[in-house]
Amino acid sequence: MLKSSFLACAVATVASTNTTNANPFDGTSWYVNPSNMAEYDVSIATASGAVKVNLQGMKSTPSAYWIDVKSKIDDTSLRGMRGILADSAAKATPELVVFMHYDVPNRDCKAVASNGEICCTYKSNGQCDFTASGDCTNGLNEYKTEYVQPFVKALNDFPTVPVVVIVEPDSLPNLASNLDTPSCGNAATQNSYKTGIAYAIEQLSLTHATLYIDAAHGGWLGWDDNLQAFMKVLGPSGMNVDFSRVRGFAQNVANYQAVGTMCPWAPDTGTRNGYCLPSGGHSSAECCNDPCNLVSQWNPAVNEMNFAQSLVKASQQFLSWTPVNIIDTGRNGVVNARQDCANWCNPRGMGAGQLPTANTGSGMVDALFWLKTPGESDGCTQTVPDGSQCVRYDTMCGSSDSIGSRSGEPLAPEAGNWFDYQVKMLAENAVDTNWPGPVPPSPPVPSPQPPAPSPSPSGCPGGSLDACIDLCPAASFAACVKDCQKECDGTTLV
Ligand code: BGC
Repeated sequence: MLKSSFLACAVATVASTNTTNANPFDGTSWYVNPSNMAEYDVSIATASGAVKVNLQGMKSTPSAYWIDVKSKIDDTSLRGMRGILADSAAKATPELVVFMHYDVPNRDCKAVASNGEICCTYKSNGQCDFTASGDCTNGLNEYKTEYVQPFVKALNDFPTVPVVVIVEPDSLPNLASNLDTPSCGNAATQNSYKTGIAYAIEQLSLTHATLYIDAAHGGWLGWDDNLQAFMKVLGPSGMNVDFSRVRGFAQNVANYQAVGTMCPWAPDTGTRNGYCLPSGGHSSAECCNDPCNLVSQWNPAVNEMNFAQSLVKASQQFLSWTPVNIIDTGRNGVVNARQDCANWCNPRGMGAGQLPTANTGSGMVDALFWLKTPGESDGCTQTVPDGSQCVRYDTMCGSSDSIGSRSGEPLAPEAGNWFDYQVKMLAENAVDTNWPGPVPPSPPVPSPQPPAPSPSPSGCPGGSLDACIDLCPAASFAACVKDCQKECDGTTLV
């Protein structure tokens, strides 16, 4: 996944709810995923002091769940969409679940770390051939029938569960600013993103979920020409998206830009806010604080609050639409740790950011929320921890800012896999330690469950800790995870 480019109709009771008129984060409690809590437990077991305390707090903090492969949709374990929806539905009051819709054909065209599961054209090794021509007909069919439709069906089967869906991180921003990268400029990729995401938005709009379309971050689309190109992709001469049931944009997904505070609106040219620019005369204002030196490059979106305002103003002008956005704060607690803000892959020195909240102080932003699950790797180092070669190695993951590039640092696992060293660093540098209390255990889920593993003194069900946890039924999840750890890892939880 590229993190920067500097350089069914819903069931009758809910179908009529206009999900665009209300902040979905307001007045509901938010789901915390037990399978994510189990990942934390593995790190907590080997932590101490403040890091341990903060990891325990992070464990109880809600975050989004990524549906990054087709198989996660109908998976009824707590690592799958249906399992999570059933778990939330079983609570006395179902809790808000946030899903990342992330499987468009030829995904992640500018980077390599999260390249597509679904391809317009497959190479013999199963990866995407980004050079093949065509209009992606096969890939789009696969996406529609094996990803979007089952996703929509799963949502519709759980009408009582409040849901937010973030639509396809990075894809449309790549069409706005990275067409000179052959994998993005390729006609098949462009058609995949435009046609596929328009279809996804249309189908998801028919459900009770609230939608936010990914808009990258201010260090990417904050330049006015990039922002206007993005508007063109979405607008009447591009995808012509029907925004009537889209709530807004998702910002800073999996990135590290500061939240900051919003400056007064003082447009100079086009939809550019001149307030912080040299000509604006306010460079010392707090809202112009610029940890990534963007003002010197005439990018006024020095923080995500200012970027939110630019997105709103540009959308009003070009799309006749007023979005209300959401900002990822999972890992942006430390805003000036990087030598180069273009480095998006597992940067060292980062910290967990502001805790999820619907009190953002701005009517342009619904919530701050942890969208990229803290502790899940951005991408792998060239060699992965088990000594094999990284299949999706992106050179950004070997940047001077990336964990693993200095001697003594551990190697990084594949994108999405748990990265113990990184999560401990995020805990150590966490900036908002007003942690929520521990999450009470889930009630039994009245839906089909896979058989419980039967730990035996000599065996680890599934063959690995992760596989064993995958097999754990919701009804006895915590006890089962402990058994897995005992059988597979030789560790016991505290
Ligand atoms: C990865 C996904 C993963 C997600 C959340 C993305 O960068 O490509 O596989 O699920 O991050 O960790």
